[in-house]
Amino acid sequence: MTGKRILIVGGVAGGASCATRIRRLCEEYEIIMFEKGSYVSFANCGLPYFIGDVIVEEEKLLVATPELFKNRFNIQVCSDTEVLAIDRDLKTLTVRDLKTGVDRIEPYDALVLSTGSSAVWPLIEGIDLPGIHALRTIPDSRKIRSELPDMKHAVVMGAGYL
Ligand SMILES: Cc1cc2nc3c(=O)[nH]c(=O)nc-3n(C[C@H](O)[C@H](O)[C@H](O)COP(=O)(O)OP(=O)(O)OC[C@H]3O[C@@H](n4cnc5c(N)ncnc54)[C@H](O)[C@@H]3O)c2cc1C
Repeated sequence: MTGKRILIVGGVAGGASCATRIRRLCEEYEIIMFEKGSYVSFANCGLPYFIGDVIVEEEKLLVATPELFKNRFNIQVCSDTEVLAIDRDLKTLTVRDLKTGVDRIEPYDALVLSTGSSAVWPLIEGIDLPGIHALRTIPDSRKIRSELPDMKHAVVMGAGYL
């Protein structure tokens, strides 16, 4: 597969680890990672500590930046870019730059889907009221932090590990 084009959808733990692992296996591949959010390779596990002021500086949540991926690994990162469709016959992706709204076609030789998961919003009356948040991203934690000064009680739904 020398010189082939590898596209990766999702730029957090799975996508970023996969991209760097592929680069270590082959220096010739063109590797591009698409992430619909604004941040790649951030420390989800640090988000609760950011809300709780244990981690004070937001930058400490960023394990790696697009610049680091480019300079150290020659991996191109397209953040704020959503993958909308896959054409498996033509081996192309339709991607949208969420900042400009412009769509484009990206051909691939190999495709990695590392799109993770999203929080479950149970069908409970009032679930759409203000002050109810999921915690998965840096913007989520920013919103929760901004409401802390007015908060007297907090309820956490779900008692799993996270
Ligand atoms: C608050 C919190 C605390 C945690 N603490 C720990 C911990 O202490 N220890 C531990 O081991 N794990 C912890 N985890 C779990 C760990 O963060 C996850 O296992 C890990 O993030 C999963 O990585 P992932 O790349 O598979 O998926 P995700 O992190 O879900 O990333 C997938 C990415 O794909 C992007 N994406 C999806 N669809 C598209 C599309 N169509 N186009 C472009 N991009 C797309 C999404 O925007 C997302 O950023 C924690 C998670 C959270 C939320």
